[in-house]
Amino acid sequence: MVSDTKSSLQELWESALPLLAERLGQATCDSFLRPAQVQELLGDTLTLNLPNEFARNWLLEKYPGAIDACLSEILHQPLEVIFGVLEATPREAPAPVPDADSPDRLAPYPLPDDAPAVARRPGMLNPKYTFGNFVVADCNRFAHAAALQVARGPGRNYNPLFIHSKVGLGKTHLMQALGHMVLAEQPRARVIYLSAEDFVNDFLAALRDGTMPGFRETFRSADVILVDDIQFMASAARDASEEEFFHTFNALYQTNKQVVIASDCPPRQLQIMNDRLRSRLEMGIVADLRCPDVDTRVAILAKKAQSEGVDLPLDILEFVAQKIVSNIRVLEGALLKTCAHLSLDPTPLTISKVEEIIADYSTASAERRITVQEIAQFVSEQMKCDLDDILSAKRSQEIVYPRQVAIYLCRELTDVSLAKIGDYFGGRDHSTVLHGYNKISEMLTTDEQTLWLINDLKTALQGD
Ligand code: ADP
Ligand code: MG
Repeated sequence: MVSDTKSSLQELWESALPLLAERLGQATCDSFLRPAQVQELLGDTLTLNLPNEFARNWLLEKYPGAIDACLSEILHQPLEVIFGVLEATPREAPAPVPDADSPDRLAPYPLPDDAPAVARRPGMLNPKYTFGNFVVADCNRFAHAAALQVARGPGRNYNPLFIHSKVGLGKTHLMQALGHMVLAEQPRARVIYLSAEDFVNDFLAALRDGTMPGFRETFRSADVILVDDIQFMASAARDASEEEFFHTFNALYQTNKQVVIASDCPPRQLQIMNDRLRSRLEMGIVADLRCPDVDTRVAILAKKAQSEGVDLPLDILEFVAQKIVSNIRVLEGALLKTCAHLSLDPTPLTISKVEEIIADYSTASAERRITVQEIAQFVSEQMKCDLDDILSAKRSQEIVYPRQVAIYLCRELTDVSLAKIGDYFGGRDHSTVLHGYNKISEMLTTDEQTLWLINDLKTALQGD
């Protein structure tokens, strides 16, 4: 095939990405489709090489025929898509799985004497944060599948795994579950869990105390490193620790050791200095966790109550789940308080009693439920655009932008479904809502004005 045909096929593929993102989700698109390469078009059969086997299985299982349909739509002709897998470059080739007894399989013990405190800390993984205790639902299905896959073949499947979400939605739980599973299968594997803050502090201490060799040895001999809250790297001028982390990352990556990162925003929005690090963080799989819907919140509460050995009636669980919306940690706090109350006063709970018990939680400012209406009203005031226009069918640019901003914020700050958001914004369908959301997400990475605008509006709406 002549190369320019190939490049025009690739262009065609890239032009289909926005539509694919709407249909298959941003995470699937960013992780699996954007890196894919068109190999050839023979007759009406297109061969598409995906970044890895997981991507192929995921697409075949979850979205059979979806890519064929999108491309057929764009080309106005029926097309069949066959999936291949991009050939791994030697560096990315899967590490050979050593024999169970081979010394290669196990990280060397003991740790060096001058190893940083954090890596030696016993019990660094919370025993409750296992896959078994994690409720899987639409809001986390992709991240869960990716974490499980990584746990089954650390360093071999997707490196790094980058998990992001707002606070209290399960990032730490999921990354620790991965650590537990690796340790269950390879008890002597060296799994390090630490926050980016710990990394920075240990690094500074090692610099101060002249123990850099021990520091490096500890991190670079990890089999799996789980780095939580990476956004901390961005919170101040931390060039040197960032650089050190970058080298640690590279050293691990190049020896097929697994890196897992959790963050409060996607890699592209991370305010870190080192662009090479940022793009490295995007190389593996990027998965997000969203707010659970009410049914999922009930399921999480039920599981938690069960693990606490407390039997609470469904209507109580539903009541708590309706009161507390956007943070699972707060949701659990409310449940634990209810359980504690029950252990002191075993008379049957009533809804009004529970309302009293959890009053502090449901009125906490972070839990104030912002409505779609309030968001639209606020955006209209701040951006000086008539509310009626924002909610109308008009499509002029000075209205479309504020409308997309409002839609973006609704999706970020509420758990209202795309369809309901669409209804409110002039009866638009869910794919139009998703398009607006994606448009602003994209602009956050390319347009500083939009980034600041969204940050300001979000902060004001959340009241912190
Ligand atoms: P994050 O790191 O995103 O701030 P955490 O992992 O600390 O959030 O989760 C907050 C709490 O919610 C934890 O107690 C965790 O066990 C619980 N949690 C989060 N997601 C789930 C889930 N899908 N199923 C069960 N519990 C969950
Ligand atoms: Mg966390």
